[in-house]
Parts: sequence; structure tokens; C-alpha cells
Amino acid sequence: MSDALQRLRAIISDVAALRAAEAILGWDQETYMPAGGAEARARHRAVLARLSHERLTSPEVGELLEQLREREGADPDPEDLDAQYIRLARTQYERATKLPSRLVQELTHAASLAKDAWRAAKQASDFSQFAPHLERLVELTIEKAEHLGYNEDIYDALLDLYEPGMTAAEVERVFAALKERLVPLVQQVSEAPQVHDAFLKQHFDPQVQWDFGMDVLRAIGFDLTRGRQDESAHPFTTSFSHGDVRITTRIFPNDWASGFFSTLHEAGHGIHSQGVPAEFYDTPLAWGKSLGISESQSRLWENVVGRSRGFWEFWLPRLARRFPGPLSGVDLDRFYRAINRVERSFIRTDADELTYNLHIFVRFDLERLLVSRRLDVRDLPAAWNAKMQEYLGIVPKKDAEGVLQDIHWSLGAIGYFPTYTLGNVLSVQYYDQAVREHPEIPDEMRRGKFDTLRIWTNQRIHRWGAIFNAVELTRRVTGGPLDSGPYIRYLETKYREIYRL
Ligand code: ZN
Repeated sequence: MSDALQRLRAIISDVAALRAAEAILGWDQETYMPAGGAEARARHRAVLARLSHERLTSPEVGELLEQLREREGADPDPEDLDAQYIRLARTQYERATKLPSRLVQELTHAASLAKDAWRAAKQASDFSQFAPHLERLVELTIEKAEHLGYNEDIYDALLDLYEPGMTAAEVERVFAALKERLVPLVQQVSEAPQVHDAFLKQHFDPQVQWDFGMDVLRAIGFDLTRGRQDESAHPFTTSFSHGDVRITTRIFPNDWASGFFSTLHEAGHGIHSQGVPAEFYDTPLAWGKSLGISESQSRLWENVVGRSRGFWEFWLPRLARRFPGPLSGVDLDRFYRAINRVERSFIRTDADELTYNLHIFVRFDLERLLVSRRLDVRDLPAAWNAKMQEYLGIVPKKDAEGVLQDIHWSLGAIGYFPTYTLGNVLSVQYYDQAVREHPEIPDEMRRGKFDTLRIWTNQRIHRWGAIFNAVELTRRVTGGPLDSGPYIRYLETKYREIYRL
């Protein structure tokens, strides 16, 4: 290894340690920290974030990357890990240094004010309290996108932060095909006789819910010798090393399904993190992964596996033994239909598998209009309601259930939402490919075995860390482009059967 690369690795390994320390403070803040710790914790985290940023953006890193340009080459081989290391370190460095520090500070400051204003505005369901903050954030975000650079569409610069290499035009293409088929499907489903799930809203003992979730975690292969699960208000996954991956869940005594499926969702992220090679940790090879790929792994376990009939052939008798009261007399068909109940609703995070994507279309359209200055922030609530009418056919009565519901924009995270639906699309493309290569997977699932599927995802997806973006990985895994076709067929087949259309 050259001296320059050795030196670069030493610096970045320090950056990684500072980031890991900051992340573990963040994990603790969401799980065990008493409320009284908030102020000191914010200060401690800010110091660690500043130190890692300073270390990563030091002029020495720039000089080393310059010296290593030749070693990296123009289009490095994915198996050449040194070259990939340099390429991804360069991406991190450029992203961190392209923005003037004045702009970074203004964004941080504006977002922290906006977050408080958003909470208050949502509480009062009064968009006007949030509007001036959002106006400011949109202006700063446009400025940020100009610094980051793009070819034609300003939205591309923002999307690239979450979905490397993806363009708005490509998302538009994928979404257009989805809209054409999903909007009428949701319409048909909502006119069909409804599915009942009242038995799922009875009392389910929280400790028993937890124990059942742990059984499933073990069975699908989340490795508890290299990870753990805890409770938090907003479930998330974070990892500090190959041997230490944390997931969280939340449990509601009267809504078993909500907690269970968020356990499965985070388990999918956790299995992904546990599958990234040990030597990638603490390096850029594990940073800046495509969020669409990440979400494909959570949705795979939450929906494609976890909301399938085959999965519950094995697990329903076990669940019914733990909850003989609420589940007495519930057969597989009734249970399967209940956990897949479709309802057009206002809140994205409560949405079912089918309508979820329509909520993303609303946000994608509006974000693009905002950052291209074709929509004024003051007109956003009306535009929101019009989009809800267009895609879901329902209009919220108050902004708290509409334009004010998500935290993302108050954090300045514009360009993030499309990754959720891209993850859904990819989850089915990858699952279909896994079954093509291993036709025994559905049968194994019915017997409570998941190794073949999990190991396939390890070998074909997780092992690459951040080396491939979503389009590149999909081509490598499936031999074709990112394609909404398989996902549309999956949803149509599934929901036509459930709703007997
Ligand atoms: Zn997720």
C-alpha cells in the first residue's frame, strides 16, 4: 500500500471512530437517556460531529486524494477495494467541502428553528406558523443544490445525497408506470367489500409481543450475538461495527401489527448491516449506501416475506398459542387478509403496503415544484390537498393530517422521500431474482426456514456495502434495469386475490 493511502486510511479511521461515538450517543438518546440529558447530549454530539467534519475536510485529505487520483483510475473495478476506497472517500470529501461553511451553519441553524416551529405548527394544525421557516429552508436548499451541482434538473443534486447517481427523470419514469396502475387499483379496492381487522386491535400483552418478535428475529437470522433490539418512540437501525448492530421497535398494547411489522422492518435493515463485510466498517466502503437499496432490505422482510401467506402458515399457529384470547377462531385466510387490509388514509406512516406509494408521489411532485420555484411555499397546503385528491381521492380536513405530518422538510431533507418507493420496487425485483435462482425459497418459508433467502441477500447485495448505487446493483443482481414491472405485478396479484377483484 502506498504511503498516501496508508496516511488517508489512518485519518479516515479516526473520522470513523468519532462518528461511531456520536452515533452511540444518538442511539442512547433515543432509547435509555433520561429527558434531563437532552441539553448536554446535544452539546456532546455537536462537538463530536464538528471534530469528525474537521478531520474529514482537512487540507491534508484533499492533498492525499489528489496524490491518489492515478491509483483510483477512471472507472475502478468493483473488486479493487483500494480503488473503491479512494473513490468513495473522495465522494465524502467533496460533499463535505463543496458547501461553504457559512451555508452549512445557516442550514443547521434554520433547520433547528424550523424543527421547533414545525412541532408547534403541527400541534396547532396551523401551516402559517411553519411557512416562513420552510421558505427559508427551501431557499437555502436551492443554494445548496447550486453548490453541489447538477446537469439539468436541480432536484438531481438533492436526490444524489440519498440515492447516489439517481436522477429525477429516472424516478419520474419509474413512478409514472406505478401511478398508471396503482391509482386505479386503489380505487377498485376501496370500492370492494372491506376487510375486517378489528380482532387485531384487542389487547395483546406487551411482554408477549416482545417475546414473539424476538422469536421471529432469531428465526429470520438477525444475529443476536452481533446485535440487539431495544424500544424507542421512532424505530430505527444503527450500527457501530460488523459485530454491533442495533435495532429498535415500539409496542402498542392495542395494535399488535404495528409493533410487529416495525420489528420486521428494522430487522431487515439490521440483517443488511450485519451482512456488510467486517473490513468495510470504519471505511467509506460502508458509508453513503443507497437508501433505496437499504429500504429494499427492510421492505423485503416487512412486506414481501412478512405479509405473505406462506410466512404465516408457519407463524400463525405459534402466534395463536401466545395470544389464545384475541386470536381464537382466527384462521389463516382471515388473518392474512387482516394484516393486508387496505385503507386510503391521510398519514403516510400509517399507510398500508398498497397506498403507501401514493403518499410518496404527492411528496415527490411537490418537492420538485418547490426547488424549481414553480410552487410558492404559501400555496403548498392547497397544492398538497390537490395532490391527495389526484392520487388517493381523499383530502385531509386539517394541515396536521396533511402538509404538516412529516418531519423531513423541517430538517431540510428534500429529495429523500422517493427512496422509500424505490426500495419497495427493488424489494420485489430482488426477491423475484432470489426465487428464480432458488425456487425452494417459498417452501422453506412455509416451514419457518429463511437461510437460503438471507444468505442470498448477503452474497448478492449486502457484501457490496456502498460500492454500487441502486441502478448498478440492480443490473448486477437481476441483469436488467430498475423496473417497476415486477412490483406492479406483485401488488396486482396479491390485492386482487385479497379483495376478490
Ligand atoms: Zn426503513
